[in-house]
Amino acid sequence: MKCLNCDCEKFESKNIRFNPEIKGEGVEVVVPSFVCTKCQTPFMDGAQMNMLRRSAADKYRKQHKLLTSEEIIKYRALLGMSQAAFANYLKVGEASIKRWETYYVQDVVQDDHIRLKCDEAYAELNALEVHWKSHSSDIFSGNRSFCLELFKQAVKYLIGFTKSPLFLNKALFYADFKHFQQFEVSITGARYVHLEYGPCPDQFQNIYQLFLSKGVLISGGHHVLKSVEKPDLNLFSDSEKEILKFVAQIAHKDGGQRLLNVSHEEQAFKKTEPLQLISYTFAKELKI
Ligand SMILES: [Zn+2]
Repeated sequence: MKCLNCDCEKFESKNIRFNPEIKGEGVEVVVPSFVCTKCQTPFMDGAQMNMLRRSAADKYRKQHKLLTSEEIIKYRALLGMSQAAFANYLKVGEASIKRWETYYVQDVVQDDHIRLKCDEAYAELNALEVHWKSHSSDIFSGNRSFCLELFKQAVKYLIGFTKSPLFLNKALFYADFKHFQQFEVSITGARYVHLEYGPCPDQFQNIYQLFLSKGVLISGGHHVLKSVEKPDLNLFSDSEKEILKFVAQIAHKDGGQRLLNVSHEEQAFKKTEPLQLISYTFAKELKI
């Protein structure tokens, strides 16, 4: 081969910085390329060209929080599918799979679709969101719709004062019901269910599992969960913060034992049938 710039025939391989444009956006990547030894003009062969396109696409994907080509390949491997089977599974053409696994950036909707069909935790969260969204705010959610972010922060805060999720669930119950008692609206919008071991947030096992898989909580062994980061209490109003601190103070003394004991004596618990949702109207009779 000959240099297009100076006719020199000697090349060497070097890592070169490129700024190709992806979807109208310049991205910077460093990839190997041949360069003319005399004038340094780059010259790429087919394989290097492909590497440049894929690296640039992946750089763009990372910047936009989209799945990288490697992640898409991993999902397919996880499901043990060929490109043809994977295309069939996602209901797209096989050419799309070949491109997504290399240089062609999937759009946001396609990215969401791939995750829903391949990532169990992602699909689980989606199912929960549909579940919550399909229930509007009512007396069982304390007159507000469920807010996962507030629930997460309340969990991160109260978990530091309680012995295990069993006790944490009671602390959450009291925080939400106590706030409803005073302001006619709950803090997190969580629904509580009459379970054998007391009032518990609806779907709490799935939610804690989700927090574990997302690295919000870690297992401290023997039924103990811990928060990885400190809670962001700025998300709560003053009255919400006050109630959370009030419940935390009670839990702090015995890890939540008293909250657990008293919760079984509550009308909210005793007058609700097993497995049924507990109405926030019982908040006016709280014993704590
Ligand atoms: Zn040259």
